[in-house]
Amino acid sequence: MKCFIHMDKEAIAVCKTCGKAMCAECSAYSNHSGICPECRKVQFEKERNSCMVKKKELKEEIFWCKVKAILLFWLLLIPVIVNVLKILNRKNQIKEIDERISILSKEIDKLEIALQNKGAAFI
Ligand SMILES: [Zn+2]
Ligand SMILES: [Zn+2]
Repeated sequence: MKCFIHMDKEAIAVCKTCGKAMCAECSAYSNHSGICPECRKVQFEKERNSCMVKKKELKEEIFWCKVKAILLFWLLLIPVIVNVLKILNRKNQIKEIDERISILSKEIDKLEIALQNKGAAFI
């Protein structure tokens, strides 16, 4: 029996997949796996395709993880910024109120003194 690729060479094995006869050289091509180079090529092409599909899926997963990470980052950061700004604004308001309280206290003190003197004048 001759090799189905090398018509001049004697076959040493039969392909497990397609049953075609192959020579020593062809057997060596597929690392003596018992599969002819033709079937081996088809097998590898299928594996490469499934690798490419898996790679595409993993890339898609990375893309959605990035989208979620960015969304969550802003979702958390925005309330943090809003509250920090609120704190600064309220502190400013307290400062203004403190100034007003101080002015009012001085005015009240002056008025109290004036009223005391008025009372004293009656006596
Ligand atoms: Zn084969
Ligand atoms: Zn051959």
